[in-house]
Amino acid sequence: MRSQPAISIANLSHYYGQGNLRKQVLFNINLTIQTGEIVIMTGPSGSGKTTLLSLIGCLRSAQEGSLQILGQELRNANKQRLLHSRRNIGYIFQAHNLLEFLTAKQNVMMALELHDHIPHHEATAKAEQMLSVVGLGKHLHDYPENLSGGQKQRVAIARALVSHPKLALADEPTAALDKKSGRDVVELMQYLAQEQGCTILLVTHDNRILDIADRLVQMEDGHLTTPNESHLSSLAA
Ligand code: ADP
Ligand code: MG
Repeated sequence: MRSQPAISIANLSHYYGQGNLRKQVLFNINLTIQTGEIVIMTGPSGSGKTTLLSLIGCLRSAQEGSLQILGQELRNANKQRLLHSRRNIGYIFQAHNLLEFLTAKQNVMMALELHDHIPHHEATAKAEQMLSVVGLGKHLHDYPENLSGGQKQRVAIARALVSHPKLALADEPTAALDKKSGRDVVELMQYLAQEQGCTILLVTHDNRILDIADRLVQMEDGHLTTPNESHLSSLAA
């Protein structure tokens, strides 16, 4: 039996603001991503990439069209339903969003506290193990201010994936990193996703990492398209 897609979006539109200020930012988006696929979304700043990611990530409620994440229809979903679906999703943001007053290990453990059935000692062990997988076994007790940009982003990846989410969403995860660290970070995501059978949707401007994707999609002025050859060669230039 063919498994259901991880993400299935049909005719999704989204608007910000009310009344005269109401502005459409997503137009009739259609996108299906199969379980285990790695898809990269490119597109200019302001085109709607983060908005789409926040809808897929159940961080806001879809207004119009159909949005099915891991088999759940989320159009007009209330806070409770969104929260429930979020447990299966790991997020990695451009700015790592680590809590500065927590150590690397405590930051990773935070992600497990959403899953209240996990006992403390088990959460500790999982966080330590995940940090060693991302190469930070010697930095468990370091605070973010004492870690490099690449190391902080690796903590963020550990935090996103420690609970083995079915879906990982990354919004420009390499934007603040140099070339080498950026590459390392996405290869690590790719490796971990394959290990865990996780589906990945990654937004990037970084043409140096496009090759890790099974497939590329492109956002332009709120419309999602498949990039053509000339666009791809301009990205690769
Ligand atoms: P991208 O991630 O591709 O840069 P965004 O999804 O952040 O694009 O933004 C798409 C459009 O929606 C932009 O015009 C932006 O100014 C607008 N926008 C984004 N977030 C909000 C918000 N919370 N309220 C109003 N407008 C927003
Ligand atoms: Mg954005």
